[in-house]
Amino acid sequence: MDGSEYQRTIARPASVAGFGYWSGRDVRVEFRPALPGTGIVFVRGDLPGCPRVEASIANRLEQPRRTTLQSGEARVEMVEHVMASLSGLGVDNCEVWVDQPEMPGCDGSCLPFVHALEEAGLATQSVPRRRRVVRQRLRLAEDGAWFEVAPPEGNQVELTYHLDYGPHSPINRQTVRVRLSPPTFRFHLAPARTFLLKEEADWMLAQGLGTRATPQDLLIFAEHGLLDNELRFPDECARHKLTDLVGDLALAGCQLVARITAYRTGHKLNARLVGRLLEITEGECMRRRCA
Ligand SMILES: [Zn+2]
Repeated sequence: MDGSEYQRTIARPASVAGFGYWSGRDVRVEFRPALPGTGIVFVRGDLPGCPRVEASIANRLEQPRRTTLQSGEARVEMVEHVMASLSGLGVDNCEVWVDQPEMPGCDGSCLPFVHALEEAGLATQSVPRRRRVVRQRLRLAEDGAWFEVAPPEGNQVELTYHLDYGPHSPINRQTVRVRLSPPTFRFHLAPARTFLLKEEADWMLAQGLGTRATPQDLLIFAEHGLLDNELRFPDECARHKLTDLVGDLALAGCQLVARITAYRTGHKLNARLVGRLLEITEGECMRRRCA
């Protein structure tokens, strides 16, 4: 068993401050070490009694364009980049203390969270990582989007994303494939930023949402291309969709080992995939422990 097969936490606390894209509110996130078997748990330090929200698919609340979790009265929103950063770096156990419901958007990527976690350093724990290996093929489709899942090669998680918004979209067709590991996540996925079409950004503004974010805080594509910003990768959008998928898969509460191909998928179908993969695999995970 190599080091990556044991659970990990962070060696010391680390924090990230910013504002939420949707709410515009200032928020501070503090990552704290946690015991083996804890999983990822959000803690609303601003509410009486500091209620905890386990990062579990059972706590997921359907909201457009983001991943939201709720337990009792306590809610945390837009958790996908925090989850992706922890999972991508191989952190199994962590308390994520927040003083607002919505996570900071920062530059729209996972990098600010990754930098904070790297600065804290990781600590290997003496308990094996929770892992479930997919042994069968699966296809899941909804509204023109689909997943195809196949058994892994060895213990390797392999993710492929096909982004295709049609021939008239300002975002061209792009495909990204990664063999997931802390270094591939760190260098190939974590820097990829959130993106929106201009009409989606205009719709948000009309609802009084997203008023603090500018085209420098995330990628906004108008009819003729990207507004006031430069891409970090030619296929940055597809890479970002993979970071979102990494974050949503982490809601399984264990590592799901499979080859997963995604076409035009988003948070809603990602969550359905997690549910199906938990049904067809066996092993220990948060969801079973809580059930
Ligand atoms: Zn995202």
